[in-house]
Amino acid sequence: MKAKKKDIRSLTKEQLREFFEKNGDKAFRGNQVYEWLWTKSLHTFEDMTNISKETREMLQENFVINHIEVDSMQKSKDGTIKNGIRLHDGLIVESVLIPTEKRTTACVSSQVGCSLDCRFCATSRLKRMRNLNPDEIYDQVVAIDKQSQLYHNHKLSNIVFMGMGEPLMNYNNVIKSIDKITSPEGLGMSAKRITVSTSGVPKIIKKMADDEVKFNLAVSLHSAIDEVRTSIMPFNETFPLKDLAESLIYWYEKTKRHVTYEYVVWDGINDKKEDIKALIDFCKLIPCKVNLIEYNPIDDGEFQQASSRAIDNYISNLEMHDIVVNVRRSRGKDIDAACGQLANKS
Ligand code: SAH
Repeated sequence: MKAKKKDIRSLTKEQLREFFEKNGDKAFRGNQVYEWLWTKSLHTFEDMTNISKETREMLQENFVINHIEVDSMQKSKDGTIKNGIRLHDGLIVESVLIPTEKRTTACVSSQVGCSLDCRFCATSRLKRMRNLNPDEIYDQVVAIDKQSQLYHNHKLSNIVFMGMGEPLMNYNNVIKSIDKITSPEGLGMSAKRITVSTSGVPKIIKKMADDEVKFNLAVSLHSAIDEVRTSIMPFNETFPLKDLAESLIYWYEKTKRHVTYEYVVWDGINDKKEDIKALIDFCKLIPCKVNLIEYNPIDDGEFQQASSRAIDNYISNLEMHDIVVNVRRSRGKDIDAACGQLANKS
């Protein structure tokens, strides 16, 4: 049986250069092919016009170019686009283009399904099938950048890792994808425009600080009381708030950069005085801001968004303590493209 061909995009530039040298060609050929694969996002060997026919055939014999396809596209009445992305092995993830007046933001997935089991999130109903490769994450950004240019006449401005999956449970691949996104040989975007959102894996938050990453960190907090948080995010049992807090203090000491806490207020779950007090105390640990996100119902009605009074209560109390708080409206709700609604329904 013939050996399975290797995915050429799993090779680094150095490895590509070595491949050509070993095959009696110039190492520089590796740079050319690398540019086609990454800067130009080309998915066929035939179209690499500055590479000779023999070399292209030789590449064809040795490698495949795995890549994603936009399988389906749904447009919301607010302009949000949800893409069903088909991976080379047939699995599907979702990525979203969110336009605002001046910006376009890509919301990308990092896993097929999710490692976690947040009870309010539709993605958690899909079990984690596998991690995405760096190029599968990168390709989502390229696809959405194209849509941004097509529909909004400008390049993608921001990226949030808030699609399917827990990015810190696929840390190495997420980092490699961000390296490509920010590299001049890739998309050349600034890391300052990238936000990685996590439910909070303390060990990895510390590693990010040690790695001196330049992107932004958001933590899905939802409660600063262990008992409450564990009841909605069972994962909190393994990584309790004390450990999360310690890792965030470490993050701030090393990076001097603030953290954003994402927080949904639910009726009867975290809408009491003591919930607000606990959040305020948690916010005093390091400089931060709070994004209060609108809840996007996901089916069984078990969770209900708290009343506007309860939310106003949060806002006024946080502001009284000089904590920056923003209220984030949902986007793309009509097509199940909003936070926590990505579940491959179609
Ligand atoms: N696993 C990562 C990223 C994916 S979730 C994380 O937990 O941060 C992106 C954000 O959507 C998180 O803040 C998550 O808590 C929130 N979210 C999940 N389900 C939601 C829902 N039904 N309504 C509103 N926000 C939700």
